[in-house]
Amino acid sequence: MIIFVGVSGAGKGTQSELLGRDTGYDYLSTGDILRAYASPEQKLKMLGGELLDDENMIAIVEAALRQQRDANKVILDGFPRTIAQASWLLDVIKRKGLIIDAVIHLQVSAAVVQSRLQGRGRQDDTQAAIAARIAWYERYTRPVVDFFKAHEIPVFDIDGSGATSAVYAIIKEKLNIPKPTKE
Ligand code: AMP
Repeated sequence: MIIFVGVSGAGKGTQSELLGRDTGYDYLSTGDILRAYASPEQKLKMLGGELLDDENMIAIVEAALRQQRDANKVILDGFPRTIAQASWLLDVIKRKGLIIDAVIHLQVSAAVVQSRLQGRGRQDDTQAAIAARIAWYERYTRPVVDFFKAHEIPVFDIDGSGATSAVYAIIKEKLNIPKPTKE
C-alpha cells in the first residue's frame, strides 16, 4: 500500500495516477468517491473545505478496501487525513498482515496551492474553501505524518512545488521504481 498525504493542490491525485500506471497498483481516492456518493450534507462540508466525519470516512474506506483483490496493491489518495483515521488504518494493516510500502508527503506552500487550484475549476476551489482546507490540513492532517513516522512507517517528505514530471521523478527515485524494461 502506498499512501499520499498533502493538502488539496499538492498534486496527490496527479502523482498517484502516474504511480498507479507504473506500479499496477489500484488508485483509491476518497475525494472521488465522495464526489460521486456524498449526501447533500456532506457536499456542503466539502464545499466549505471542511473534513467529513471520521466514522463516515472509515466506513467508506473499509468498504472500498474490501472490494480490492489485493489490499497491498492500492494507492490511497486523501486518506487518512486525521489521527483517528490513521490509527484505524494501522490497526487494519496489522490485523490483516498488510504492508505500507511508503507514505508520500507532498509539501507545497499555501501560495502554490492557491495559484494551482484557481486554474483547476473544481466546485470547491473557491478562495475561501481553499483557505479552509489549508487550515484543516495544518490542524488535523499534518500530525498524521508524524504519527506514521513515530510508528516507523517509511515516510518521504517531498517538495511538490515543481512541475509534475520533476516531482514524479523524485517519487520514483525514492520508491526505487525501476525504469520500464523493453519486452
Ligand atoms: P480531495 O479530492 O482529496 O481534495 O477531497 C475533497 C474533499 O472531500 C475534502 O476537502 C474533504 O471535504 C473530503 N474528504 C476527502 N477525503 C477525506 C478524508 N479522508 N477525511 C475527511 N474528509 C475527506
